[in-house]
Amino acid sequence: MGQRVTFLKETAHQILHVLRLSDDDQVAVLDNSGLIHYVRLRVDLSTNTVSGMILATQPVQSEPKTQLSLYFGLSSREKVEWILQKGTEVGVSAFYPFYSSRTLVKPASLSPKKLERWERIIKEAAEQSGRGRLPMLHAPKDLAGFYFDAVGFNDLCLLAYEGAGDDGLKLSDALDCFSGAKIGLFVGPEGGFSEGEVQAGLEAGCRVISLGKRILRMETAAMVLPALVLYVLDE
Ligand code: SAH
Repeated sequence: MGQRVTFLKETAHQILHVLRLSDDDQVAVLDNSGLIHYVRLRVDLSTNTVSGMILATQPVQSEPKTQLSLYFGLSSREKVEWILQKGTEVGVSAFYPFYSSRTLVKPASLSPKKLERWERIIKEAAEQSGRGRLPMLHAPKDLAGFYFDAVGFNDLCLLAYEGAGDDGLKLSDALDCFSGAKIGLFVGPEGGFSEGEVQAGLEAGCRVISLGKRILRMETAAMVLPALVLYVLDE
């Protein structure tokens, strides 16, 4: 409390020229450490700089206790952007786009500019939805390269497979008695996972789950799955 803060140029621009705030206006600042600071602004129009005084600091209440990592098949620009935006709103903590045998997008088509744009989409969605921590965007990799990392990192990994039939676990059963902190969720591309990819996931230690009798588009599954997991976990 009482501490002074100075805003970065880009944020100062947003405060002055987009939000049109001025001296003594108050803003809520998320610092990406899980804290929210209430700040009284000081504006210097001669230099276009904005600073402020912290009036109060609190932990952000909106962060889920369970850290969800979403592994999803790379798709068209619009679909990926939609998944990142909605996933951030719903409560995903990290995104891992992957290439697999049925993804339409191949590594050569990903420019650093595209990744920057995706990071900006996550940041805007995090601000809009009041996330306490910015979800991480990881560089795309081959699906096989993610399986073992995911199983090592997470306490539980679930792979959504529409072809699981009666062998597919219900989400509520898969999460029954779950007491860990990290869950990895795998959603396939438009063409789905091949049988070999599902088998490799199972061998790595993923559990195959069903999302019901209807087949969802990949972007629908990528949003519904994290939302349902957090719902079942009471988050
Ligand atoms: N290839 C399939 C559909 C793929 S849907 C077909 O055209 O018939 C894209 C992804 O969404 C799948 O790989 C899966 O991860 C997920 N998904 C969609 N519906 C699902 C369901 N009913 N149960 C589990 N996963 C599902």
